[in-house]
Amino acid sequence: MCGIVGYIGSRDVVSTIISMMFELQHRGQEAAGVAIASKNGDIYSVVGRGLVSEALNYTNLYKLYKVEGAFGGIGHIRYATSGGYLDSQVQPIVVGEDRFKAAIVFNGTIANYIQLAKEFDIKAINGDALVFAQVLYKLAKEFGNDFIEALKVLPNYVIGGYSIAVLTSEPRIVVAKDPRGFRPLSIAVTNEEFFASSETAALDVIGISNWREILPGEIASYDGSSIEFTRSSIPALVSPCIFEYVYFSRPDSIFNGVSIYIARVRMGEELAKNVPANGDVVIPIPDSGRGAAIGFSRESKIPLEEGIVVNKYIGRGFIAPPTYREFVSKLKYGFIRCVIDGKKVILVDDSIVRGTTIRSIVNRLRVYGAKEVHVRVASPPFEYPCFMGIDIASRDELLAWRTMSLTDIAKVVEADSVGYNTLEGLLKSVGLPLVCHACFTGLYPFKGLTVDDLEKMFSRGPL
Ligand code: SF4
Repeated sequence: MCGIVGYIGSRDVVSTIISMMFELQHRGQEAAGVAIASKNGDIYSVVGRGLVSEALNYTNLYKLYKVEGAFGGIGHIRYATSGGYLDSQVQPIVVGEDRFKAAIVFNGTIANYIQLAKEFDIKAINGDALVFAQVLYKLAKEFGNDFIEALKVLPNYVIGGYSIAVLTSEPRIVVAKDPRGFRPLSIAVTNEEFFASSETAALDVIGISNWREILPGEIASYDGSSIEFTRSSIPALVSPCIFEYVYFSRPDSIFNGVSIYIARVRMGEELAKNVPANGDVVIPIPDSGRGAAIGFSRESKIPLEEGIVVNKYIGRGFIAPPTYREFVSKLKYGFIRCVIDGKKVILVDDSIVRGTTIRSIVNRLRVYGAKEVHVRVASPPFEYPCFMGIDIASRDELLAWRTMSLTDIAKVVEADSVGYNTLEGLLKSVGLPLVCHACFTGLYPFKGLTVDDLEKMFSRGPL
């Protein structure tokens, strides 16, 4: 998933970038990094593991604040999809030498990075980020050190999804979305300032309200005084990620003009129509199940209660590295006995991917006195892996792929019943004509490529 930000202007560059990064922490918790360009084009980069507050510790911040005459910078929050979890694949990645240097951050996954490494004669194949950055750099060199031209042709080579920011030694920032527009990215230009962020919420929070979303295939370049827009002319089926609405994005963000919060409430309303449940109380799994639980309660007229309290300091279970997920799901939730005891609980979550978290929560609800637990899920069964930005590389990891019947899924998660939203219900909730829903249907928006082809192509771990 990951989050990216960028800033050019007269504010304190480092603190403006870090403020936005804090607002995108939900998009990754494994590492973070910042690159700053000085007005004369030198690029300085620091990276570290963990949350923004850990990765950008005093030592790293001191290095950034020492940069004299900061022109602008970019930042990255990492969520690993390839290259392993505890390696050095942190971003920004700095490429080039002498007066042609750039720092690159991106949000997404490059499924064919191994093939690209061969094609572009890149030796260090430690995951998609390094290969992707090198491919872009080599293309820019071919175009006379021009990243805009490189970004125009990049979709010819890449299978996957990306939203990207490039800080060059000219200096300037260039941002772009792949032509399918899988991942969000917005910008704002105001009073000789430039802001970029994966999510609109980060811009709103720092008081920037005149943002606009980058369109699929669009490229924007800002040099400190003027902005240029261009686009890749390579045709592709527009297919923004529907899972951004289900889980990833913050509810106060907008993606493709659609409020994440409103889409989630509608998912709950559709869910209550499609798979009603007989219960005394609707309880959301916080935070991403909350919007759907509100919709379920409104539609079913069954009261909504906050029966589960989330410990926000533990982090998001889904984006935690696999070995920590079970551990995280046990530590993360507290339960309010007076809301649960003696009740038939309708437990609403955004999705079930591996089933680890929900089973643990169902069990705890019973410990706290629930008479019955009926699980209702705002999205359809998650049956196929994602190769465009989510850390699920194989079908074997997915509960709904391994366990085909609802009765069996209910047994695995130890619930009295399980009901999923329909694809139609989900699509209606989001309301866009074109989206990617491959993780629910196996229909990937890459012409002629099936899940088998993509699984063979992509490797998550270091080679
Ligand atoms: S496969 Fe699913 S998670 Fe991946 S981009 Fe498509 S909708 Fe999003």
